[in-house]
Amino acid sequence: MLDLRIAGRKAIVCAASKGLGRACAMALGRAGVDLVITARTKETLEQTAEEIRKETGAKVTAVPGDISTEAGRQATLAACPNPDILVNNCGGPPHGDFREWSVEDWQKAVNANMLTPIMLIKATVDGMCERKFGRIVNITSGSVKSPIPNLGMSNGARAGLTAFCAGLARQVAKYNVTINGLLPGPFLTDRLRSGIEYEARRQNISFEEQLAKRGSTTPAGRVGDPAEFGDACAFLCAASSGFIVGQNLLLDGGAFNSTMG
Ligand code: NAP
Repeated sequence: MLDLRIAGRKAIVCAASKGLGRACAMALGRAGVDLVITARTKETLEQTAEEIRKETGAKVTAVPGDISTEAGRQATLAACPNPDILVNNCGGPPHGDFREWSVEDWQKAVNANMLTPIMLIKATVDGMCERKFGRIVNITSGSVKSPIPNLGMSNGARAGLTAFCAGLARQVAKYNVTINGLLPGPFLTDRLRSGIEYEARRQNISFEEQLAKRGSTTPAGRVGDPAEFGDACAFLCAASSGFIVGQNLLLDGGAFNSTMG
């Protein structure tokens, strides 16, 4: 197994009781990282913390709260004031037609998917620079690269975060602090599962049939396993990943059709 050389490092993994955040926390725990994980629902979060402890032996602190609020961020930072690793994640904005979205709807999306990660970066990046080690990974979406028509708020807010980080990443790289994005295509988390369930009901077919249909839209012929996403995150956080700066890694089974990039 590749030694990531981050055992004993401290990480904050946001929105990590389920799905992609949970998978990132699990992979970092496996690499020997001490974890602070967050999510709004206390019971699920504590259950996940216990599962990660059991499976990896890592030290895991669960901090319940809404990471898109100042109180949620302060509680998280109080539990881990000097993280070496920050994995930014939050629930995604709703689908819909932009004609129906108010200023308040947009502010909510921009707050959750752009400003929240920026505020957490602001609180932690200078300490990382001083200590000459930092790995920041933003979980965004394939929609940053290839807009999804009915996910306009996701396309917009996440692209804003990505553009901001493109600049900052190049200012902090000389301190061995990296900022990169991980762009998920379809991964089989609760979020995707509920979309597949909805479509299966609408078309009067089974969950498995709709899952296979969804998977067949990618060249890989399947949807992603969250564990694959978690391992990519851990790789970006490795000691030897300090030269990977300001990149956006698309994990979509080849769905984005291009010669490179
Ligand atoms: P998921 O399975 O629904 O899990 C979301 C996790 O985030 C849960 O642990 C949830 O717990 C937590 N969470 C949500 N809002 C939060 C908040 N305000 N504060 C703290 N924790 C919060 O979702 P996922 O599929 O892993 O998606 C993660 C992110 O990737 C989302 O932004 C999603 O839009 C994006 N994405 C996912 C896919 C995919 O295929 N899965 C594709 C593209 C983009 P609580 O509800 O208890 O807070």
